[in-house]
Amino acid sequence: MISFSPLCQLNGGCMGCCGYGFISVEKIKEAVAENTTEFQQANPQAEDDFLQFRNRRPAMDLRHGVCRNLIEENGCVLCPLHPARHGKDLRMGHCDTDYFCKTAKTFANWSPEKQQQFVDFIKRKELDNITYSLQMDKGMLLREFERNVPPNI
Ligand code: SF4
Repeated sequence: MISFSPLCQLNGGCMGCCGYGFISVEKIKEAVAENTTEFQQANPQAEDDFLQFRNRRPAMDLRHGVCRNLIEENGCVLCPLHPARHGKDLRMGHCDTDYFCKTAKTFANWSPEKQQQFVDFIKRKELDNITYSLQMDKGMLLREFERNVPPNI
């Protein structure tokens, strides 16, 4: 079991597991833009403000299949409830924080050399963060990499 994956932070942030039944890249972008506007209007400062923002809708009340907490800041798609921001996980009780996609779980068992090769492989693709997220969660990048990686690594 893992509790962290560097893959979740790559490529401007991964949001592949921040939703369910995504409709299209355009609809995902639309949802993130609307979430970001709501977040900016709420302008949370204290922990209670962030929780109030989080609780404005039930967890499974998604927007075009996207979690309503997912926002964009400085070109990165991120969760403002994440422990990286607070030192405390404000997603607890609202989101399945133990979930990691197959790619992240497989990556965690690789050698450092193979992990670096996968990171380099992703960088060479120059994907936008939404396409990266979808391909990550669907295991497409993992499958493509595994098809091409030398068997001795
Ligand atoms: S889809 Fe995988 S890599 Fe992306 S955020 Fe979720 S666990 Fe991390």
